[in-house]
Amino acid sequence: VELPLAAARRSEVAAFIRRYAASLGDFLVGGARESGLEAAYALGRLAIAMNMGVIDISAVHGQALLSFVQSAGDVDACEEMTQRAGEFFSECMAAFEIVHRGYRETCAELGKVNRALRERAAELADAKELIESLAKARSAFLAEAGRRLSASLDFDQTLRTIADLAVPELAQWCAVDLVDPKTAGAIRRAAQSSAPGEVPLQEALSAGLSAAVAEKASRVVELEAMRGSRGLLCIPLLARGEVFAALELLGAEGGAWDAAAIDLAEELGRRASIALENARLLREAQEAVRVREEFLSLASHELRTPLTPLLIRLSIAARRSRGGEAVDPAVFEACLRQVHRLISLVNDLLDVGRIQAGKLELHFEVLSLTALAEEVRATFAGAYAARPLRFDRGREPALVRGDRARLEQVVTNLVENALKYSAEETPVDLSVSVEGRSAVLAVRDQGIGIPREQQKQIFERFFRAANAGSAGGSLGLGLFICRDIVERHGGAIRVESQVGRGSAFFVTLPLWAEPASAGALAEARNAP
Ligand code: ADP
Repeated sequence: VELPLAAARRSEVAAFIRRYAASLGDFLVGGARESGLEAAYALGRLAIAMNMGVIDISAVHGQALLSFVQSAGDVDACEEMTQRAGEFFSECMAAFEIVHRGYRETCAELGKVNRALRERAAELADAKELIESLAKARSAFLAEAGRRLSASLDFDQTLRTIADLAVPELAQWCAVDLVDPKTAGAIRRAAQSSAPGEVPLQEALSAGLSAAVAEKASRVVELEAMRGSRGLLCIPLLARGEVFAALELLGAEGGAWDAAAIDLAEELGRRASIALENARLLREAQEAVRVREEFLSLASHELRTPLTPLLIRLSIAARRSRGGEAVDPAVFEACLRQVHRLISLVNDLLDVGRIQAGKLELHFEVLSLTALAEEVRATFAGAYAARPLRFDRGREPALVRGDRARLEQVVTNLVENALKYSAEETPVDLSVSVEGRSAVLAVRDQGIGIPREQQKQIFERFFRAANAGSAGGSLGLGLFICRDIVERHGGAIRVESQVGRGSAFFVTLPLWAEPASAGALAEARNAP
């Protein structure tokens, strides 16, 4: 079976053979010189296009030439014809030659491209190796950092470890500074690398640090003064979104900090933040446990102290009454005082528990702070007849919206403290006044005063000033409870005091403003 494709090919080749013979004829016997050679060249190109080889053309040529040679008259004519046919053939071959040259050139080009490709491949392999070794060094560095950071949960030790970690792999010098998140400043050097080396100037450090802290992002500071360094890298350390410290690294090599080195330093910074935060939490937890333990032993002691005299007094009274003797009512009064003291201690403890659990309930009503203070004064005047207890009620009654029992507790506590921390013969002054849109209650004494540096702390739980002595029944809870109550009324409490001269405590509460309607008044009374 003959394929149609092959048939087409054969007729194409036959047409070519005919065209070749005709053109050769024109050239040899028809006298076409220039045009004959052009035709030969065109035939060569056609042969290439038809995928014919040099041998095929030679065969076609030989066959065509044979028919012309046979028609030649003599040997000389035959020779001349053969020679000219050779010209025609080589012109035809010229097309092959040109294509061949082009092919050779292309091959040479390809060779060049190949070589370039091979070189690039080698470079890529080198780069890959370099990247792999850098990645390996990076993870080894971070693994070592992790190992050393987890070795201790001590805050100061962790700071020292961080400062030493980066040297010399990442930096020639490293420091950790602590930042006060409240002021976003007040930077304090906490640790620096122990390896000896040049230390950057403080101005450069401060400028870089404050920028890094403000932007919460790392920052490179160029240090012109320091040769052989690639500048100072400042990395803020964050905990719960706040900058609490910063890491400063003085780069070792020439050139600038590159992206990979900055990235590694930032990763170190992240791990350092976590380690420091963990150490801080542990320290806080330990401190809380310590305070609690101290408090427990203090509380049990304070609760125990009144019980012994109470027991003795009651035993004696019981024995006397069994023997038919009369018992002095003063004994019972003394016993009652002890019981009240115990009740008040237990109440304070309960209140602190409620405050911490957020369960100290307030029942609001509109009341006169002036009248309330007056009542408290009257109660104390009865119990402490010997002490001058003065009251200045101001020009107008101060109306506030508050919890009567809790505000009474505040005033009582302040007056009790004033009496407790001042001498018998000195007066205690109580006053209530209206100042602008506030009601101000003041309790002044001429007692021992409070050291300036401790005036803030006295409102903290369990805190007792250094000069308070060991007055019985004191747990350092009263002012903590007072502050919570006052603040939950939208007010404030503060102290002015001088050691040896006396103290003045001021409670400021928002003045109650008469609402526009009766409905609003009812609402104000009922609102929490
Ligand atoms: P405490 O039960 O110890 O009095 P507080 O919380 O009421 O507890 O007071 C805390 C500390 O504040 C006291 O221990 C004392 O050091 C100091 N303080 C309070 N009021 C006065 C005052 N009027 N004069 C001097 N110091 C005072």
